[in-house]
Amino acid sequence: MQGFKLGSISGFEIRVDLSWLLIFFLILWTLTVDLFPFNYPGLSNATYIVMGASGTVLFFTSLLLHEISHSLVAKAKDIPVEGITLFAFGGVSRTRMDAETPGDEFQIAVVGPLTSLALSGVFAIISYTGENAGWNVAVTGVAAYLAWINLVLAIFNLLPGFPLDGGRLFRSTVWKFTNNLQTATRVASIGGRILGFSLIAFGFWQLFSPIPNLIGGLWLILIGWFLNNAAAASYRELVLRTMLEGSRVREVMTMKPETVTADLTLQELMDNYFFNRYYESFPVMEEGHPIGMITLNQLKEVRRQNWSQRTVEETMIPIEEISVSPKQDVAKALTQMGEARSRRLLVTTDGNLEGIISSTDISNWLQRQHEFGDSLPERKTATEQRVMEMQSSH
Ligand SMILES: [Zn+2]
Repeated sequence: MQGFKLGSISGFEIRVDLSWLLIFFLILWTLTVDLFPFNYPGLSNATYIVMGASGTVLFFTSLLLHEISHSLVAKAKDIPVEGITLFAFGGVSRTRMDAETPGDEFQIAVVGPLTSLALSGVFAIISYTGENAGWNVAVTGVAAYLAWINLVLAIFNLLPGFPLDGGRLFRSTVWKFTNNLQTATRVASIGGRILGFSLIAFGFWQLFSPIPNLIGGLWLILIGWFLNNAAAASYRELVLRTMLEGSRVREVMTMKPETVTADLTLQELMDNYFFNRYYESFPVMEEGHPIGMITLNQLKEVRRQNWSQRTVEETMIPIEEISVSPKQDVAKALTQMGEARSRRLLVTTDGNLEGIISSTDISNWLQRQHEFGDSLPERKTATEQRVMEMQSSH
C-alpha cells in the first residue's frame, strides 16, 4: 500500500492510497447532491457545494484524528509507527510490528472508537448550540452530519471483526485468556469474515428488497467485501510470520549468485547478462566486495540512448539499502524487502557476499517446509536440495 504523501503530522507520515480519492469524490458527491439538499431543502446550489466540501474534508479529518490516536498510543507503548495511510474505508496506522501483550493491543485499539465518540459529542454540541443560537443552517447542518458520521464510525469500528478495532479488542481478549496469539487471530478473523459476509448479504437484501436502496446496498457490499478480504489476509500474514519464526536468512538464501562488476556500462550489462540470463537482478562487485545491486527495472528507467554512457555503479541500489546478515530473522528480512526498492536482498558478512535472498526464495522454502517439513532431518536439507536443483537446471 504505497499511494502518495500528503504531509506529516506530529512526526507521522500521512499517505493517501489512490482508492481513497475515489471514495473522497463519492462522499463529496453524495453529500452535495443528495444528503444536504434532502435534509435542508431550499438553499442555493453554492451553499450545498460549500456544505458538501466542508463536510467531506472534516469527515476525513475525523478519520485522520481517529488513526492518529491509535498511532500516539502505539508510540507510547514503544511500538515504532511509520505513518498513516488513508485508503478506501478509512485509514491504517502503519506499524513495524504488532503489540506484544494483549493489554497493549486492547489500549491501542480502544482509543480509536473513543476518539470518534468524542468527536461525535463535540459536533453534536456545536450543532445543538448553533441551532438554539440561530446560526446559519449550513454550519449546524454540517455539524449535525459530522456528529452522526463519527458515531457511525465509532460503532462500525467496534464490530467484532478483525482487523476492525472491535475485532482487535476481541482478539486481545481471546489472546489474554488463551495466551496464544495465533488462536486469537484465527478466532477474530473468523469474526471478521462472518461480519464481512453478513454485510454483503444485507447489502444484496437492500438491493433486491421491495423498496430497493441502491446506493446503501452497494456501499454495504463494498465494505463487506473489503472486510472479508482484510480478515483473511491478516490471518494469512500471521500464519506466515509464525512459520518463519526462528528461521534464519542463511537457511533460505541462494548461495553463490552470479555477479557483475561496477564498471560495466548498462549496454554491456544488457547484452552480456540480462539478455541471456533469467535473473532479474545481479549483485554488483568491486574488488571482490559487494557494493550494490542492479535490477532490470532500474535499467528500464534509464533511457535507452544513455545506456552506453552510464555505468552500473551510477545506476545501482547502494549496498546499505539492501544488505542483510545471514543470521537475520527471515520475517525481518521480508519486512526489509517491503521497505527497500527491491524484492531481493544481498546476504553479507564483514563486507563479503554470501548469497542472495528473494521473496520467491522465501515462498519456495515455505512450500517445501509445508510439504516435507516433518520428513526432513534438518531444515537445511530443504535449502540444500533446492540449491542442487537450481544448479542442475543450469
Ligand atoms: Zn481504528
